[in-house]
Amino acid sequence: MSNRLNTAPNDLGAFWMPFTANRQFKKEPRLFVGAKDMYYTTHDGRTVLDGTAGLWCVNAGHCRPKITEAIREQAGELDYAPAFQLGHPKAFELANRLVDIAPEGLDHVLYTNSGSESVDTALKVALAYHRAKGQGSRFRLIGRERGYHGVNFGGISVGGIVANRKMFGTLLTGVDHLPHTHLPGKNAFTRGEPEHGADLASELERIVTLHDPSTIAAVIVEPVAGSTGVLIPPKGYLQKLREICTKHGILLIFDEVITGFGRLGTPFAAQYFDVKPDIITTAKGLTNGVIPMGAVFVTSEIHDAFMTGPEHLIEFFHGYTYSGNPIASAAALGTLDTYREEGLLTRAAELAPYWEEALHSLKDCPHVIDIRNIGLIGAIELEPIAGEPTKRAFSAFLKAYEKGLLIRTTGDIIALSPPLIIEKQQIDELFDKLRDVLENNI
Ligand code: PLP
Repeated sequence: MSNRLNTAPNDLGAFWMPFTANRQFKKEPRLFVGAKDMYYTTHDGRTVLDGTAGLWCVNAGHCRPKITEAIREQAGELDYAPAFQLGHPKAFELANRLVDIAPEGLDHVLYTNSGSESVDTALKVALAYHRAKGQGSRFRLIGRERGYHGVNFGGISVGGIVANRKMFGTLLTGVDHLPHTHLPGKNAFTRGEPEHGADLASELERIVTLHDPSTIAAVIVEPVAGSTGVLIPPKGYLQKLREICTKHGILLIFDEVITGFGRLGTPFAAQYFDVKPDIITTAKGLTNGVIPMGAVFVTSEIHDAFMTGPEHLIEFFHGYTYSGNPIASAAALGTLDTYREEGLLTRAAELAPYWEEALHSLKDCPHVIDIRNIGLIGAIELEPIAGEPTKRAFSAFLKAYEKGLLIRTTGDIIALSPPLIIEKQQIDELFDKLRDVLENNI
């Protein structure tokens, strides 16, 4: 690594950083200059244990040889091929490999470059599908409070995070929202799926009755909501949503941008919960976070509805310059090889009991008001400082970073989602460090 990369640049002003407290950051920069397996190296030479798989994406750990090599080789062989009316073999090979691990029946894949694009693609597929079937009156999209579906206009419209919506005008019209399922009064300190709250799925019936089923195209939910602090679906909730959608001919979209690729111990959350959606959105773990790429899985029924009309005509007017980009496809194939060889798509299931015990051992720490977990995901909710929401968790984030641990915070919730290669002694290291943080005046 060159020295130039190992120090903080003198002037950090030009880069307007995403979802960042820019002024705070630029006073106290936190830069990573290297990474290997479970650890980052910082610009000031420290080692940081990755408790969040980067941003929920580095599922196989950092700088894995198969992925690095695949990218290197592809960059020298075929750098780019036009995505429209032309192709290259790896995009097709990858799609076949992806549908092999997807829930049965989700047999077709559209490529994107991010989770946000996957979501907007899925919403457009849903609207166009109904139109192709002669049901163009189905224009409404139903999201959920506290849902995160990326930052594009479709995603923020169906999303339910106030701060991500309020600055941006009218958004999409014809959108309604289910209530969220976070019931700390009833479900605090639950291990796995909470007992209470499945009945909240019935709210979908109320919304359907209000608008009439003939106007509703799709419902989109994260099977486990990550970005608003790990909201785990109550037992039976997703099954109930599926039943209501099926009854009324509404498509069910699972946004699996964080749950896809092994996070719960199955390739997708749909398999974990044994609920089959009509569309699944993914990104992040698809390429181990290394190269931007997303994939939207759809059923044959949806795909086939478009495959009508004269064969020389484009069937779906949508796509990106970089859809199925050769280097991204190679990275994804290297990632899938790594997952397969190391059993990473199911490893979370083996580690989950140990993870759960270690996580819940922090119950007695100061300010902890809830702990919840599923697969290799954990959340610790802290009591907010009166009048200063988010400050306590942010202070925990800064202290953890100083102590060599990367955590993620949202509101006053600490969210944990380590790479799926984590070993038990690293789980111990993670929670020892976190205990130290929580016990020291945050
Ligand atoms: N959907 C979900 C459920 C996510 O968690 C995220 C990102 O965290 C997105 C969509 C957006 O993904 P991206 O940041 O790649 O656009």
